[in-house]
Amino acid sequence: MRAAIYYGPKDIKIEEIPVPEIKKDEILIKTLRIGVCPTDIRYYSGLRGESTFDNPKFTRGPDTFGLSGHEVVGKVYEVGTDVRDFSVGDLVTHETFTYCGVCKYCRAGLINLCERKLDIARGYAEFIRIPARYAYKLNEKVKIKNAPFAEPLAVVIHAVKKVPQKNLAIIGAGPMGLLMALYGIHIGKKVVLLEQKQERIEFAKKMGFEQVLSSQEVDIIEAKSIFKNDIFGIISSVGGGKAIQLAIELTSGPVVIFGGTYPPESINVDLNAIHYSEKILTGSTDHVISDMLESIKLIEEGDLPLEKLITGEYAFAELNNAFNSIISGNEMKVQILF
Ligand SMILES: [Zn+2]
Ligand SMILES: [Zn+2]
Repeated sequence: MRAAIYYGPKDIKIEEIPVPEIKKDEILIKTLRIGVCPTDIRYYSGLRGESTFDNPKFTRGPDTFGLSGHEVVGKVYEVGTDVRDFSVGDLVTHETFTYCGVCKYCRAGLINLCERKLDIARGYAEFIRIPARYAYKLNEKVKIKNAPFAEPLAVVIHAVKKVPQKNLAIIGAGPMGLLMALYGIHIGKKVVLLEQKQERIEFAKKMGFEQVLSSQEVDIIEAKSIFKNDIFGIISSVGGGKAIQLAIELTSGPVVIFGGTYPPESINVDLNAIHYSEKILTGSTDHVISDMLESIKLIEEGDLPLEKLITGEYAFAELNNAFNSIISGNEMKVQILF
């Protein structure tokens, strides 16, 4: 099979390697499409410091390729002898991380915080081996373009649930920010988007979002007047101290830190501001099982116009071009076709 192997920052090669052999409890998925996640780009460009090869947070094995492709849709090609719930030909997606099921977090249903959690990084290959317990079946009627959104949408659902207010502000109108906005509106929230880049503001407006503000200095005044009239929760879909400082300044929160910050950064927080305004600062990472099930249901029912986020579809052989186009800022969501 062909797989994209990481050799160093911005150095990947598509090579012929053996199809992975599955264990008794595993399934082999023939990849159909993969959505490119910002995390994949961080690994590709070396922003995360190391590839997934030497990262202790990732699963090991001959089918670890150094990239973190995980927004997968594919068809079951082979099932292990102990697998009961999947058959050859089933349309599936899968969990992006393993969880032990027995630690205090897993027992509380918080699999995203599992103490033995490992990322499964087996995308960007024609076949993916995965324990069946981490796979989810998809209805055959699902729009195939929408299926790779199962994981990012689950992650977004997890974050949006941390905001009890009807008013939701989102910093960053990139693919994740817009996904948050789509879901927020779907569940009846009033959404305000804040974005730095003019092209992304235009893109969001074209998608039909009404309140899209520039997060540049001038428009912050306008943002502040909006925030004055209502109580808002904020999710920062982007990392970086500047975005979080702005969020803390704009509202009592919750301020949900959703985007990772690379390289890592710290901010100064005025403790009295937190004390006297009961500010809530929290984070959101990955998703729990109920988020994934909700995401899959929304995708199967075609409730969200997810395909509008896709700006590029590239053949697997064009993976380098796809990644570089994202880095140049030319894309919103990109999918790789196998
Ligand atoms: Zn992702
Ligand atoms: Zn656990």
